[in-house]
This record gives sequence, C-alpha cells and structure tokens, in this order.
Amino acid sequence: MPPLDRRHFLAGAAGAGAAVLARPATAAPQKFDTDIVVIGAGAAGIAAARRILAADRRCVVLEASGRIGGRCVTDTKTFGVPFDRGAHWLWTPDFNPVAKLAPATGRDLYAAPPGQRVRIGRRWARESEREDFLVTWVKARRAIREAAERRTDVATASALSDLGGWGDTVEFLQGPLTCGADLANVSARDLARATEHTRAALCRQGLGSLVAALAADLPVRLDSPVTRINTWVRGGVEIDAPGGTIRARGVIVTVSTAVLAAGKIDFVPDLPRGHADALAKLSLGSLDHVALEMPGNPLGLQSDDLVFEKAESGESAAMLANVSGSALSLVRIAGPVGAALARKGEREMVAYALDWLERLFGSGVREAVRRTAASRWSEEPFVRGAVSVAAVGGHEARTALAAPVRDRVWFAGEATHETAWGTVGGAWQSGERAADEALKRLRLGPAADADPPPRPVRRRPPPPPPEPRSLWPF
Ligand SMILES: Cc1cc2nc3c(=O)[nH]c(=O)nc-3n(C[C@H](O)[C@H](O)[C@H](O)COP(=O)(O)OP(=O)(O)OC[C@H]3O[C@@H](n4cnc5c(N)ncnc54)[C@H](O)[C@@H]3O)c2cc1C
Repeated sequence: MPPLDRRHFLAGAAGAGAAVLARPATAAPQKFDTDIVVIGAGAAGIAAARRILAADRRCVVLEASGRIGGRCVTDTKTFGVPFDRGAHWLWTPDFNPVAKLAPATGRDLYAAPPGQRVRIGRRWARESEREDFLVTWVKARRAIREAAERRTDVATASALSDLGGWGDTVEFLQGPLTCGADLANVSARDLARATEHTRAALCRQGLGSLVAALAADLPVRLDSPVTRINTWVRGGVEIDAPGGTIRARGVIVTVSTAVLAAGKIDFVPDLPRGHADALAKLSLGSLDHVALEMPGNPLGLQSDDLVFEKAESGESAAMLANVSGSALSLVRIAGPVGAALARKGEREMVAYALDWLERLFGSGVREAVRRTAASRWSEEPFVRGAVSVAAVGGHEARTALAAPVRDRVWFAGEATHETAWGTVGGAWQSGERAADEALKRLRLGPAADADPPPRPVRRRPPPPPPEPRSLWPF
C-alpha cells in the first residue's frame, strides 16, 4: 500500500481498517503504526481523538460496534423523528464542552424547561405539595453531604431516614433515576461529590446525532472490537483487533466498566490490583427509555415537560413528554426494576411503561399510544449497562481507575470523572484529560509547526447552585 498523507489516512480509516497501517507524512518512528490508539467511539473516545489530532499527532479509534456514539445514539428510523435511546439532556450547558461545540455542527440547542410536573395519583401536585417536595429534596442533599463527612463511607440510603412523605420519591429520583441503582448500594461520598444538575439544554436533532457529528473527521474503524492490549512491548503497546495487531506508543481505553469487568479485553500483563479493585466497585446501573408515540398530545403536556409521581416504592418511572414538540414521549425506567424488565424484553418494558402511565392519567392513555420502542442498555454487548455507580466504600475507585498503567495505558470514560460521572459532559472531559496526560507522558506535545492545542477545559466544578425553587433531579 502506498504511503498516505494524513487527510487520506483519516478519510480511509473511517471505512477501511487497513488504513491504520499507512504512515502519514509527519512520521512517527517506523516501528509504530500510529501514536495513540483510542478504544471506543463514545463521547470520551471522540474527545480524546480530537485532542490528539489537535496536537497534530496520529491516532486511530477502534470501535467495537457498527456505529459511533456509544451510549449516545439518536434513532430517526423508528418514528421518523429523533429518538434518543441513550443520553438526552446536556447538563449545565454553560460548562458543558459538548454544548459549546454544538453550533459548529449545525445542531440546534435550546434550554430545557425548568422544573417538573408532579402527579399524586391521578391529579397534579398542588403548589404547596411541590414546595414540600423541594424542601425534602434539599434536606436529602444536605443529609448526603453530611454523611460523606463521616469517618467511613456509608450507603446513601442509610443517610436518608426520616424524610417524611416525599422520602420514597426523593430516594427513587436520586437512586434508580440518577444512578440506575438503589441507594442502599450507592456510596454516599461518591454521590455527595456529584455535580448537581440545575440547568439543561436539549438538542433538536437528538444528542446522539450531535455527538456523532463531533466525530465526523476522525479516523474511526467500526466493527473493530479490541480483544487484547499487550504492554510487554518495548516502548509501546500492541492492540489486537479484527484486521490485525496495531503497534502504538500508547492507548486510551474508554469502554464501560462493565465491559472491562467482564474481561472482554485481555490485558497483558494483568491490570494492577488497584485497577481491578476499582472495577469491582464501579458497576453499571440500569436506565432505559421506552418511547411512546402519542399523536395529538392526549395528555395535554408542554414540549419537553418532565413528569414524575409521588412514589411509594422503586416501582416508579419518569417521563419526558412531547420531545422537542414531537408526538414522542420517553418513559424512563430505571434501577433494579428496570434491569429485570430489560432482561425480559422490550414487550415487558412497554407494558410496564403503559401500566405506569395509566396509573397516572387513567385508562384512556393506552388507546392513545401508536408505535412503541425501547432501549435495553444492559443487553448491549459492548456497553452492558447505563451509568457507573460507586458501591459503598468505592468513593476512591474513579480516581484509581483513571491512573495510568505503565505510562502506556490511560483510562477515560464517564466512570473516571469524579464529579460528572454518568454524564456526556463528564465522559467528554475525561477523554480530553486522558489525551492530555498521554501526550505529555509520551512526549508527544504539539509538533513544532502545529497550531497550539485548545486550552484545557477547566476542571474546577461549577459553583454550587442556590437552593432550588425547581430542579432537575437527574
Ligand atoms: C438511557 C440513558 C440515558 C442517559 N441520559 C443521560 C443524559 O440525559 N445526560 C447525560 O449527560 N448522560 C446521560 N446518560 C449517560 C451518558 O450516556 C454516558 O455517561 C456517556 O455517553 C458515556 O460515554 P463514554 O464515552 O464514557 O462511554 P460509551 O458511550 O459507552 O463509549 C464506549 C464505547 O466503547 C465501545 N467498546 C466497547 N468495548 C469495546 C472493545 N472491546 N473494542 C472497541 N470498542 C469497544 C462501545 O461500543 C462504545 O461505543 C444516559 C445513559 C443512558 C444509558
């Protein structure tokens, strides 16, 4: 194969695995096929690859599935309008790197309506009841922060006794709906550190479409599951994937903790104990979207209204109504209940969502539903869940997982972000962080003739929000 310049290399790599073996004009030493391999083309992998290319260094992104975006995917085929099977909200848009990049992709962002609509049985909660809910929410957040200051980490649930009538609701919103898990299994220290979501933006074309557009010019090889990472190689790494072994100076691994814990990638030698322990503490919780097409707005809700109920147990749900003004509403089911339903299948998930809606709005709602679809993230072989959750005592696991291995392997992905885990913005920042560290350690700073890389994203968390009048619980 003749040598390719970088432009051809990038274009070719998107479709043809062999392109990675070609050497661009700005050559690295002959023994390496590329400078850095990025594993996974989700938000973290895309951010890492963009950073490496901005430093005028070579990389290739190996993606196991047949598409880009990972847990961000917009399905436009099923309903003819955007259906985000995964992430939907861009939290804290003023600080969110993905929100900042949206205009350049031609995607429209708009502010999500603040607040939420709460059902109590078949009626709307009164203003005073909503006030009570917000008071309980603030009390719970304070209790979690206080619990995080104890000598040892505790289960978040143990910090939330005596919350009164709205206690189950708050526990459902903070546990299953935020973490995809019951609070009995969530570290209070980890949850206390999480950035609170008080504002959100939505993408009219779907968040998955935005994230995929940000990978438009990247050298991504699809259908390329990495099976082995060998660091017993002089000065570099060898990566095994269909199409052959790639030699690089370093590798950034962005796959989910569930994929890593399942041993889908064989590390040679084994990962250090600290990483193995971290993975054992960072399982993936369960979140899914059941999409319901309801033409004519039978529930009389506004565009992008967020609806939940005064819950009495973990058998609850929440709904994003009339997404971007369309006839599509997304019922989010989550936690152990959602995981059990996802195992059973799409039909059971839809039935659960319809039962829940009927409980809130009466039997007429069932007839109003036309087509349906559901995500099943825990059944996706290359993801195996929704968002990382730190088990009790696992509050240091994110930092431990982010530590480099032999200065050749860097980990990124939402699970490695200390305050914005479980989010697209957090995944993105983690990819940028890993790329910066790898470029520095591998002495691959910007080439002398290259433009300076973009200024690093400030990692200081945004200032704490004022006590909320309305809030985004998840
Ligand atoms: C239903 C749902 C709703 C959500 N809602 C929101 C929301 O509203 N807002 C928000 O900010 N976040 C939300 N999230 C979380 C958000 O989607 C994730 O935090 C983020 O997308 C994770 O990105 P990532 O790059 O870390 O991982 P991923 O997106 O999982 O990317 C990892 C990639 O690695 C690939 N891969 C796996 N194994 C291999 C292998 N062996 N070789 C090569 N590639 C491999 C995978 O196919 C995948 O593409 C939601 C998640 C779900 C599931």
